[in-house]
Amino acid sequence: MNLSNLTALELGKKIQSKEISVWEAVTASLDAIQQKEHELNCFIAFDESQAKKRASEAQKDIDRGVLASPLAGVPMAVKDNLCVEQFYATCGSKILEHFMPPYTASAVRALLQQGAVLLGKTNMDEFAMGSSTETSYFGATKNPRNAAYVSGGSSGGSCAAVAAGECFYALGTDTGGSIRQPCAYCGVTGIKPTYGTVSRYGLIAYASSMDQIGPIAKDVSDCAAILEVISFFDKKDSTSIRRGALDFTSALVDNVEGMKIGIPMNCFGSGLDREVRDAILSAVSLWKQKGAQIEAFDFQYMDYAVAAYYVIACAQASSNLARFDGVKYGYRAKTYDGLNEMYEKSRSEGFGEEVKRRLLLGAFALSEGYYDAYYIKALKTRTLIKREFDELFSRFDVLLSPAAFTAAPKIGESLKNPVGMYQSDAYTVSANLAGLPALCLPCGKTKDGRPIGMQLTGDLFMEKKILRAAYAFEQIRKEQKQCKTDTKQS
Ligand code: GLN
Repeated sequence: MNLSNLTALELGKKIQSKEISVWEAVTASLDAIQQKEHELNCFIAFDESQAKKRASEAQKDIDRGVLASPLAGVPMAVKDNLCVEQFYATCGSKILEHFMPPYTASAVRALLQQGAVLLGKTNMDEFAMGSSTETSYFGATKNPRNAAYVSGGSSGGSCAAVAAGECFYALGTDTGGSIRQPCAYCGVTGIKPTYGTVSRYGLIAYASSMDQIGPIAKDVSDCAAILEVISFFDKKDSTSIRRGALDFTSALVDNVEGMKIGIPMNCFGSGLDREVRDAILSAVSLWKQKGAQIEAFDFQYMDYAVAAYYVIACAQASSNLARFDGVKYGYRAKTYDGLNEMYEKSRSEGFGEEVKRRLLLGAFALSEGYYDAYYIKALKTRTLIKREFDELFSRFDVLLSPAAFTAAPKIGESLKNPVGMYQSDAYTVSANLAGLPALCLPCGKTKDGRPIGMQLTGDLFMEKKILRAAYAFEQIRKEQKQCKTDTKQS
């Protein structure tokens, strides 16, 4: 049996029924890593002996009947901005190359308690700043569907590892689209939950008011199951919310009868690649056939979202990253003359170009005389965007839009034009500005075989609605694929 085609839940079921051992599951992932890693570079670090040790512990607990979680024994990976004891947490940066955190992020801990087998830490854009995983100090992660193309970013390592079968699911983080956009490029599924749903304790901050951890997996059911495990109130994160409706797997029902889906038509303008547009619009007709009600509208503040996002994200990053000064964490310059020069040289040598650009932008936006003109204005824009969503969700259950303008671009293209790269986040950043849940799932392929994804956004705490809409769509796609193989065989 080719295990790498199984979803995490399918594998978990076979592990519980003793059809497959945890050892076999881990070996399948390690074999895939062995075969593909040198080309793809999905991981910054993996630990084979730890994974094997975890595997036999998990197997023992399953055999004793004390570990019955559907994810027990399933090999997984986490993005390298999440702290895990005994693993370096580099954030894709030279400045944290040798930073070993003394504790484990709450979300990761919750999965480990359910018997997850952690394989290692995945590659990412430096400090999660980027859209291609090319700003990583450890080199780019290539797209497993075609290695001449990027995996997307910043959770490119996690998405590529899942798509390549190097792990069965992964955790990513999303500040402005970093789960959804690489999911679209790699043809996998991921969800950014409502802000405050998953504890940020142990996540190295980029822009604290927008960062969220979320699952990346092969399908919607896996995402719901993983999200259910990592969502809980955590007193260690002051922005963690006590909320209900956390039984996400209960939303996996194939029924969208009467569901109101809004389509922001101005997201489908001339900037959007034709093949991406056609794939998403044909998805719309499938939902219609299933009884969903579709209505078009224009997203009024869409054009301001990128500007507001980058001012806020860079400002918060410049404050968050001030702690990396060569004293407490990671890298320190070899030679310096006095304290100031030590700071200056450690930071100049330790941070990459994109991070420095953003720290300068952020410090500028927060400086006296410009604070009102940029930061406060961006916060006001954020409020307008949130209000527009409030109005939209009084009319719609979910909104459907692209996750990116094109399928994955070629390696090297995005870095040539940083502002162009910022603009390419136009579809994803609004959900983060408003704190909303948003999911990305595959909906087709380009003629040359690159995956195309689409995005479903819901109101605050309405993950279940987007999961239901996504699940129903996935069922139609599965039926269509089955029909195709049946006709081929007959
Ligand atoms: N591309 C966006 C940025 O660079 C989003 C990153 C993210 O979500 N971490 O800020």
